[in-house]
Amino acid sequence: LILITLLVGGIWFARPEPATNQPEANAPQFDKTQFSIGDPTSSWLVVNKKRPLQPKDYEPASLTAPSAMRLAGRPTDANMQVNSEVAIALDQLDADARAADINLKVISAYRSYDTQRMIYDSEVRGFGQAQADRESARPGHSEHQTGWAVDLGAVNNKCEIEACFADTPEGKWLADNAHKYGFIIRYGADQESITGYQYEPWHLRFVGKDLAAELRRLGNPPLEEFFDLPAAPSY
Ligand SMILES: [Zn+2]
Repeated sequence: LILITLLVGGIWFARPEPATNQPEANAPQFDKTQFSIGDPTSSWLVVNKKRPLQPKDYEPASLTAPSAMRLAGRPTDANMQVNSEVAIALDQLDADARAADINLKVISAYRSYDTQRMIYDSEVRGFGQAQADRESARPGHSEHQTGWAVDLGAVNNKCEIEACFADTPEGKWLADNAHKYGFIIRYGADQESITGYQYEPWHLRFVGKDLAAELRRLGNPPLEEFFDLPAAPSY
């Protein structure tokens, strides 16, 4: 028994110190240079009004719809599709959401350069350029063109693509949980002077679990701020 106690004790004391007991200088630093923020195939891509996609008519190599999550359209529709990594993350998010009685669906995902141009032009015709630029990206500047972004909504359609989505059970659940699956609410409240867009509690951007967790730890700064990039309120 003494031998066992000594052995177990030896293993126990051989464990490294918990991170909280480490001096600050030895705390692991988050490496902000791990992935490209300029390559559209990188989930850390930062695209905004100052940073167009390169090339501007970029198309993801392959897109796919989530397999189990509810969709506003058909799985074969391009605008229900995302990069495969994102589709897997959405299905995981949706499975846990359903278990919590939260019913979400995909409203809009991938948009090609040409589709984005049609949407933007229609917004300009309807609301004028200034208002269109607060709500809709010009072609070549949209996260939806990358396969890394998706607009989600409640199955009951409440507050669909409206700021009040943030106050619905679905919007609240996303704000509290999306980071666990690698997503951020890309256009946060009161960040328009930096991101260039009004609050969009429905627009999720996949950045991977590590970066999503780090951003949450820091209080959800916009990507521009986190990566020390210029604010992008306008083109
Ligand atoms: Zn969106």
